[in-house]
Amino acid sequence: MAKAEYRAPKGTSDLLPADARAWQHLLAVAQDLFARYGYEPVYTPIFEHTDVFVRGIGEATDIVGKEMYTFDDKGTPPTSLTLRPEGTAPIVRAALENGLTANGQSAKVYYSGPMFRYERPQAGRRRQFWQIGVESLGMGEPTADAEAIALLMEFFAAAGIPRSAMRLLINTMGDEVCRPAYRSEVAAFIRGNAAGLCDECARRADTNPLRAFDCKNLTCRETMKRAPVLRDRLCDDCAVHYAAVKSHLDALGIAYEEDTSLVRGLDYYTRTVFEVQAEGLGAQNAIGGGGRYDRLFEMYGGRPTPGLGFALGFERTMLALRSAGVDLPAPAIADVFVASAAPELASEVFAVTQRLRSAGVPAEMDHQGRSLKSQMKAADRLGSLLVVFVGPDELARGEVTVRDMTDKNEWRVSLHGIEDQVRTALFERYLARDVAVSGTPSEGRS
Ligand code: AMP
Repeated sequence: MAKAEYRAPKGTSDLLPADARAWQHLLAVAQDLFARYGYEPVYTPIFEHTDVFVRGIGEATDIVGKEMYTFDDKGTPPTSLTLRPEGTAPIVRAALENGLTANGQSAKVYYSGPMFRYERPQAGRRRQFWQIGVESLGMGEPTADAEAIALLMEFFAAAGIPRSAMRLLINTMGDEVCRPAYRSEVAAFIRGNAAGLCDECARRADTNPLRAFDCKNLTCRETMKRAPVLRDRLCDDCAVHYAAVKSHLDALGIAYEEDTSLVRGLDYYTRTVFEVQAEGLGAQNAIGGGGRYDRLFEMYGGRPTPGLGFALGFERTMLALRSAGVDLPAPAIADVFVASAAPELASEVFAVTQRLRSAGVPAEMDHQGRSLKSQMKAADRLGSLLVVFVGPDELARGEVTVRDMTDKNEWRVSLHGIEDQVRTALFERYLARDVAVSGTPSEGRS
């Protein structure tokens, strides 16, 4: 193979067919599940005015401070634009701009697509990565928090990650009533314990003290274990809200761990925050997370509007699946392969393939004039259940031969009405496969 002269930029990778199909599979799982929970799709631009992120995420966060891909557009004067590092700020901007939550309306939306952060790349940490996320806008009740958490856990289960390989962590960040005093207390704690903290955490006393809980440095972690805990200082409303979220999770039988050091890096969170961690992923073990952001609309000049959401990462979900030894289902690419030993019948082969495709059958053929042996190998690789052979003698009688790739049985089929014959044969095989997999036949293909 020739050495590639150009490579994908550092921290990015190509989603080649195997991974791209896995992404589509996870998206399809998400779309089904999110629709069942009443979420609708939304697509926002991949770049936004830089201020959308600075305002919402906060100046003192890693994302805004170090990780944004920011550039000027070509206007006069130039406008600063940024590739989206996350999905919530754009959704809230879009909701405000388009009145999705005007007059007290609520909206439940989801998004999917690439996000961009200038990070030091490592396993599970990319500069371009794919996220799926939901946002519940206009809903302040604790049932909405429990619903988002239940949905996130159900998604990972539906994706195939065993429950025993995941931890659900929850915490509360308080609100504008109880957090400011707590922030000051933590800042004072940091100043008094700077010797046990890294330089960056020591500096956080003046910028973003709560982020010191998030530091991966072990000494910082030990020191911050002695820091004051917000849960003991919540205002009444936040305490009632947090207790209600937990009781809804309990009622649903969703096991969680309370983690007072879970602060999640962004400034916009209020009250409930949560994160799902998976086994076997090393330092980058968060596969999804989110929380409530009841003040974010106001930060953009909107009316007070509660909101909450989560985002999950595709690459890390894949790593978690691999680490748990789970293979994603790999549906056949072409259920039927149309083959021929006679190169001069290429146009007949093409015509049969197109007729099957028009009838809704996933069908493939060879376009490179390869030998019958190579065509059979291709059929195997594509997971074909049936091969349709087009030969000169049968063709003269208006027939083709169909072979079952599992038991190698062959039979003749009239070209007239081949679509129905192939579809019936396929349907029988889907049924047989479904019975073998689940013990009961399902309707048609899974
Ligand atoms: P966050 O927006 O940081 O809360 O991230 C939500 C989810 O996106 C995380 O739980 C990860 O699964 C994923 N994620 C975040 N940052 C990255 C990254 N740099 N590379 C890959 N996945 C990421």
